[in-house]
Amino acid sequence: MREILKKLYETNNLDLNELTFLIENVDEATITDIKEKAKELNQKIYGNKIYIRALLEFSNYCRKNCMYCGLRKDNENVDRFRLDKNQIVDSIGKAYDFGYRSFVMQSGEDEYYTKDILSDIIFTLKEKFEGIAITLSIGERKFEEYEAFKKAGADRFLLRHETANEKQYEKLHPGMSFEERVRCLHDLKSLGYQVGAGFLVGLPKTSSQIMVENLRFLKELQPHMVGIGPLIIHNDTPLKNFSNGSVEDTFFYLAITRLLLPKAMLPVTTAVNTLDKNGLERGIHSGGNVLMLNLSPQEVKQKYELYKNRETKSVYDLDKVAERLENLGYEAYIGRGDHIDWSI
Ligand code: SAM
Ligand code: SF4
Repeated sequence: MREILKKLYETNNLDLNELTFLIENVDEATITDIKEKAKELNQKIYGNKIYIRALLEFSNYCRKNCMYCGLRKDNENVDRFRLDKNQIVDSIGKAYDFGYRSFVMQSGEDEYYTKDILSDIIFTLKEKFEGIAITLSIGERKFEEYEAFKKAGADRFLLRHETANEKQYEKLHPGMSFEERVRCLHDLKSLGYQVGAGFLVGLPKTSSQIMVENLRFLKELQPHMVGIGPLIIHNDTPLKNFSNGSVEDTFFYLAITRLLLPKAMLPVTTAVNTLDKNGLERGIHSGGNVLMLNLSPQEVKQKYELYKNRETKSVYDLDKVAERLENLGYEAYIGRGDHIDWSI
């Protein structure tokens, strides 16, 4: 174990066998050490800034049926909404005036926002609000659509791979294919987006081997961002009889990911903050450096229910978040906050 850790800390890489050994034999003291090293590495690269993203959930319509997600198409208990261009521009404008420069636009896979409609919204936002970064998180689209959104001004794209095990992926995503997911991620990279992948912790029937596959997948893809969150069970989904993913495991995988991809932007996700009220502090102590705060209008926030009791801190509660960060010796940063290779 000592040799494996030395290699991980010195080279930021482990092969398949070494990762398997680490995951299957890790003890509490080693986990503490790994988290400490991940936190130090993050500080070395990104200093004491925690990058705050303003998240707008603009539609909860979805044509997909991911087995774990409350927004899945077959869930008839969802009160569906979508924001129009004016509502989107207004919401982002308010947060812009407050000082935010990094915006994430997230939705279900909603075909209402065609190539032209969404490109127009992105173009307008970039024209009106100088210096902002736009991250899209809208699921799978054709190359031409990703290309049009990039041309319109989108900067980044979040598309978690969810699980890198093809069989598990296809069981949990009816009608979808892992090959297509990977196609999307590669298209996004080739178009020059800053790309985010990531996985869910605690999906049914996850072996240590699958977690190794997740980490190896990330190491090969070299995404700029990685979202890692625990599964949270939603009662209106086919996974209703399963259990939530573990927050302890989530922090462990966050730390390992920091060590394997030192420069990655790593959010302390909403899901981990939902399950652990000290998620923010613990996530930063595991190498996390990004936090998303919600800017969705109050009347639609509750309807964006991937899972129950979602922790949705508002962008306008920045003071409280900044105070928590200050107590840890960090600063809340609301600028664009690009991946370090983009800023030079
Ligand atoms: N529809 C887009 C997509 O799937 O990429 C973006 C929105 S989707 C709600 C964003 C992420 O939410 C997914 O990548 C998934 O990992 C996460 N998610 C969905 N249901 C969840 C659940 N029950 N627990 C934890 N995370 C969940
Ligand atoms: Fe739709 Fe995304 Fe939920 Fe899947 S995870 S059902 S694509 S909103």
